[in-house]
Amino acid sequence: MVGRLVLPGEYIGTEEEFIASKGTYEDNGRVYSSNVGNVEVGSDFRVRVKGKREDVTIQPGDEIIGVVTEINEPLVVVAGEYLIKLGKVYEIKTRALVHASRIMGHYLDQCSKVVKARDVVRGKVVGTRGKIDLTLEPPDEGVIYAYCSRCRKPLQRINSGLYCTYCQKNETRKVSKKYGELSEGVKKR
Ligand SMILES: [Zn+2]
Repeated sequence: MVGRLVLPGEYIGTEEEFIASKGTYEDNGRVYSSNVGNVEVGSDFRVRVKGKREDVTIQPGDEIIGVVTEINEPLVVVAGEYLIKLGKVYEIKTRALVHASRIMGHYLDQCSKVVKARDVVRGKVVGTRGKIDLTLEPPDEGVIYAYCSRCRKPLQRINSGLYCTYCQKNETRKVSKKYGELSEGVKKR
């Protein structure tokens, strides 16, 4: 658990194990993350979740987590917020782009068929010359959080697709294997 990357709302442990502090909250005897970042536990059992804000160089092979701000065919524009590098997460502020040919493994005529504005995506960095290019093709990459286009509630993953339990409606995305379970891929080394 310690060092693990967690998302807001993710369960960390019980109040018997931890005392909630920065970046966490408690509810009904359970401690949850209110932040995106790595779990840190002090000797006093205070648990906090924070991203590391350091000077860090973005390199091919790193992963970026960010929010899709717009789709400007054939490009998806991502406001990068977190960098995952060698199993650690860093807070960043950077713009990254995904080309239509780097989403499904074949050319897509419209990115908006499988990625929508406001989706949270995880992408692997493939280029850093002048601009940051991401690919969403590998199984771990793609949409990791998405909202129903009708009611805006979070979509649930059902098998390989996404579903709104309120509207009883399927939505199509290029879904990451890490949809809603981001922490599994970024365990402490
Ligand atoms: Zn809905």
